[in-house]
Amino acid sequence: MEYEGRYGLTQRTKYDCLLFDLDDTLYPYSSGIAAATGKNIQDFMVEKLGIDRSKITELGNLLYKHYGTTMAGLRAIGYDFDYDEYHSFVHGRLPYENIKPDPVIRSLLLSLPIRKIIFTNADKDHAVKALNRLGLEDCFEGIICFETLNPTHKSNVSDDEDDIAFVGSTATATTASTNGSGIFDIVGHFAQPNPSLVGLPKTPIVCKPSEFAIEQALKIANINPQRTLFFEDSVRNIQAGKRVGLHTVRIGSSQRVKGADYALESIHYMKEAIPELWEADMKSEVGYSGKVPVETSVTA
Ligand SMILES: [Mg+2]
Repeated sequence: MEYEGRYGLTQRTKYDCLLFDLDDTLYPYSSGIAAATGKNIQDFMVEKLGIDRSKITELGNLLYKHYGTTMAGLRAIGYDFDYDEYHSFVHGRLPYENIKPDPVIRSLLLSLPIRKIIFTNADKDHAVKALNRLGLEDCFEGIICFETLNPTHKSNVSDDEDDIAFVGSTATATTASTNGSGIFDIVGHFAQPNPSLVGLPKTPIVCKPSEFAIEQALKIANINPQRTLFFEDSVRNIQAGKRVGLHTVRIGSSQRVKGADYALESIHYMKEAIPELWEADMKSEVGYSGKVPVETSVTA
């Protein structure tokens, strides 16, 4: 809150940055991209990692739940693979033609004279392709993506990047029990009566919904969370964003869950839901130093 008040007289609006998730936020879930991505991830697990197809649904669900992405979870439990190969396998065959140009969002974004940044767990190739399909490639100041938060492609990174690379991975070596294959048996772990979360191996991958990942993204892009609106479809990402101080907009449902300041069925409704973003210019001479009225007390 230090920015507010101190610079209150010169503030134009209560927001000076819009942070956007990409998938299922800037285009709808109904595009089928998410479903196709999920299938490709499962195929990667079977074809490239040799995991039994009968086990991948349960395994994938556990990894996604505990590590943010299946990829982060696969690395955590001991699978080693090339990140670029994973991304090209998972995204390379997506039906990008299902993502249609969206002139409505384009004109909404271009009419807002404030910073707009993409923050996705996906790789840059995918982000650029999807933005091109949407016709939004020139609407954003930058893209924070997988490579931004995981710049080395190696688990043993060099010293100069250690401040962002060792993501929540306090464990540099995994000592958790494995099933003899060198792979931590996470399915077996959670089949125990009282599975411990403390005993789970750490992942070297930095991604949402880790608070560390979000904080790194804010730092890299020089974003003040108190003056930023975060648009996301994932409830857990929204809640993590709220915990680090962002104002949050849930996209994809009008149900305002815990941690969400706004909830919109579609990004198309952002002007109706948050008209103050467009009204800011008219209030440019008015200082704003109070607390943001939409902020809920929910901070989880
Ligand atoms: Mg998303």
